[in-house]
This record gives sequence, structure tokens and C-alpha cells, in this order.
Amino acid sequence: MFEYAPAPESRDIVDIRPSYGLFINGEWVEPQGEGRHKTVNPATEEVLAEVAWAGEADVDRAVQAAAKAFPVWSAMPGAERAKYLFRIARIIQERARELAVLETLDNGKPIRESRDVDLPLVAAHFFYYAGWADKLAYAGFGPDPRPLGVAGQVIPWNFPLLMLAWKIAPALACGNTVVLKPAETTPLTALAFADICRQADLPAGVVNIVTGAGETGAALVNHPGVDKVAFTGSTEVGRLIAGSLAGTRKKLTLELGGKAANIVFEDAPLDQAVEGIVNGIFFNQGHVCCAGSRLLVQESIAADLLEALKRRLGTLRLGDPLDKNTDIGAINSAEQLARIRELSEAGEAEGAERWSPACPIPERGYWFPPTVFTGVAQSHRIAREEIFGPVLSVLTFRTPAEAVEKANNTPYGLSAGVWTEKGSRMLWMASRLRAGVVWSNTFNRFDPASPFGGYKESGYGREGGRHGLEAYLAV
Ligand code: NAD
Ligand code: MG
Repeated sequence: MFEYAPAPESRDIVDIRPSYGLFINGEWVEPQGEGRHKTVNPATEEVLAEVAWAGEADVDRAVQAAAKAFPVWSAMPGAERAKYLFRIARIIQERARELAVLETLDNGKPIRESRDVDLPLVAAHFFYYAGWADKLAYAGFGPDPRPLGVAGQVIPWNFPLLMLAWKIAPALACGNTVVLKPAETTPLTALAFADICRQADLPAGVVNIVTGAGETGAALVNHPGVDKVAFTGSTEVGRLIAGSLAGTRKKLTLELGGKAANIVFEDAPLDQAVEGIVNGIFFNQGHVCCAGSRLLVQESIAADLLEALKRRLGTLRLGDPLDKNTDIGAINSAEQLARIRELSEAGEAEGAERWSPACPIPERGYWFPPTVFTGVAQSHRIAREEIFGPVLSVLTFRTPAEAVEKANNTPYGLSAGVWTEKGSRMLWMASRLRAGVVWSNTFNRFDPASPFGGYKESGYGREGGRHGLEAYLAV
């Protein structure tokens, strides 16, 4: 083991205000109610800022601002809308370090990830959809596809700014206007994005940001002035939203949970597969809807692979998310930590064997060590339910057919990974796996040009790529 000197990223670059209002019609406004909420740094439990809790009247004001901006924004030539999106993308690049630090402070993810994964992808999404804005007639949706109107968008806390980019970039490129609600534990980068909209001179009302909890989200998706709803979060809330929107004219896309299989065949390059497993489940503390949370390993190599995996996990560094050496940051909230603990305890109680490397846990904040369960049966809760934390369940298989059977034995279907040297086996597997994305000898790789979305209880609709335009066009 190497000794590392601490290498903390400076937080001086971010300027967090003590308190934030709502961003409506291009202005910061105070909410009508008294509701306020503190957002904390989950690595220290330090209060970072106070944000408004928008009520129905505030949501209504935001939707009206978006509706008022729609005729002008949608009538603007695509090439003009593109200029705004390119400008936003460039400002994000210029302010990338500040936004990465802010994301890490509010979310708990390692700076290495917010700096090298989240922020580059955020900028890439705006660049990518800026490119589509004047080419919609060539996207395969008819010669003059029309936008829908006001998009109400609700996002989770695991990739706060990236999920905002996935939602806002295609909506604006197609000519829609937006009201977005960030998650209650991670509002700060969305509020910084509001400032970026002002910096880019985006016309007032095209983007509105309302902060709050589930009730604010419900008020937004149920508002009669909203034409399109896009939601990313839990399957439970997704189901609720689908129910309340049934029978309305609103267009809906849902990106929900997952329980992905990461399948390793005996001919796979072992060391690469180990890196892929680590990236699959320990990236972003496992707070990833497409995380490779079920490792399916061919029986003949299971012992060797597990030994190599455990050795590798012993080198992961858990701690200060702002330290550039950190691999595993903080769990996003006390609630999420409780859920991870509960499911891990259920794993033990049901008879699976639990293992974690020796790993000092900081005194303050919310933490969970990288954890591996072996001897997992298909019926165990840890094999069926989304844990959304750094917990891997290991199962084995003997034949490709058994691997497919086990991988598909889940109500979810967001992603899968296959590790093998043989191209023919890769294609054989990919055509049988019921998952929106199948990664081949890699995992958790994202690109704005590639569509992403689920089968079954993982939701419907696609985000990203040409496919992602469809959700925001009247087609
Ligand atoms: P959640 O679904 O409750 O929250 C996601 C977003 O929806 C938040 O912005 C929240 O304020 C909002 N929301 C909550 N209730 C709503 C309602 N009735 N109407 C409209 N919006 C509403 O998720 P959570 O409680 O933060 O996490 C719980 C579990 O969800 C996690 O353990 C994980 O399994 C899953 N999850 C999945 C994803 C994903 O990317 N697919 C993201 C976050 C959480
Ligand atoms: Mg926070």
C-alpha cells in the first residue's frame, strides 16, 4: 500500500450564499410560504445553505413564467436557440472547477468524479443538444417537428447537475421551456445553473428552478399548465406519477431504479473485469441507477475473481470527498444510509456472507464501507431490491443460458455488463438481456450521443442521443 499525502481541493473557489430564493422568470424571488430547508455537506454534516421550499402558489408562478416564455422561445430559429445552448456549455466549462467543488460539497461524491466525470458530461450534453437545435427537421420526426410547451422536470440527488443537463439540454434544443425541481438534499448546483442562465442572457422564463421536497415535485407534475413531465428517481414515486398523469394529455418519461447484472465469463481478462466491477458498483458510492449491483460470475473462475476483487477493494480510499485521492465519498443522506444499512442487515439475516475491507470510517458524516456479499441466492432481498449504495451481491452461473436467465430475473431492466473475449458470445448475450444499455467489457460509460433508459420497472422513454429528442417533440 502506498502512503498518500492529503491533496484537498480548495473550496475557496465556491461562493455559497447563506440563503437562496426561487429562480422564476429570470429573477430570484422569495417563496410565498415560510418553508425553508437546510442543505448539508454529507461528509461533515455542516450546513451549507438554506433553500426555499416552494409551495403550490410558487410552482404556479414558475409554470406561468415558462408558459409566457414559450411562444417566443419556440418561434426562435433553431440556430438562435443553439447559440444560447453553446454559450451555456462554454460557461459550464469555464466554471467547471467551481461547479465540481460545489457538487462534491453538497452531494458527498469524490472530487475526482465530479471533476472528471460529472462536469465534462454536463458540458458535453449541452454541446451535443446545441448541435441538434437547428437540425430537428433531419432527426427523423418529420420535416417540422414542434415542441410540446412547458416541461416539468423532477430530478434525484445522485448526479444533480448531470441529471439537470440530461433534462434541460434536449428540452431547450427542441424549443420547450422548463420548470425544474432539484432533489431536496442537492439543490446547490441547480441554483448555480440559474446564475449561468442569467450569465448566458437566456430569455426570462425559459428556465425556472423551484426547490423543495416531494410535495413541490407533486405540485409541479400535476400542474395543469405542464405539457410534458420528465422524472428520474425511485420506482415508487415513478409509479405514483404515472398514476396521477394517466388520462391527461401530458407526455411522460420515467427513468427509475435498476438492479443491473455485471456478467463475467471465464474467458474475460480478469484484471480488467475487476476494474469494471469496482467501477460498476463503487462509482459514486453505488448511488447509480444503472450500477452493476449483481455480479454474475462463471463458477470456474469465481474463487480467483473474488480473491482479486477483495485485494483491489483493500486499496480503495474512503474519506474526505474533496481530497483528490479519494475513491469513495460520503453517502448522500442519513435516510439513504439507513436504507443501505437495513438492506445489508437483511442480507446477513437471510444467510449471505458479508465482507468489507479494513477501512477507517470518519467520525462525522454519513459513510458506508465498500461491501461484498457472497453466497447470495436469487430470493434474497439484496439480490432483488435496489440498495443504491456501495454493496455488491455475488451470484454464480455455469452456462451462458443460466447467466441470461439470472440476469433477467428482476423487475428492473436498465443496464447490464458482459465481460468476455468472444465477440459472438457478446452479441448472443446482448440480444437476450432485457436491459436498455448493455456494456461490453466496460461499465458505467456514458455519452450524450447514446440513448439511455429502461425496460420494465426501470421506466420508459429514452434520454440522450437522437432518441432523446422524441420526448420533447409532438410526435
Ligand atoms: P425519490 O424518488 O423519492 O426522489 C426523487 C425526486 O422526486 C426528488 O426530487 C423528490 O423530491 C421528488 N419526489 C418525491 N416524491 C414526489 C412526488 N410524489 N411527486 C413528484 N416528485 C416527487 O427518491 P429518494 O427518496 O431520494 O430515493 C429513494 C430510492 O430511490 C433510492 O434508494 C433509490 O433506490 C432510488 N433512486 C433512484 C434514482 C435513479 O437515478 N433512478 C435516483 C435517486 C433515487
Ligand atoms: Mg446536500
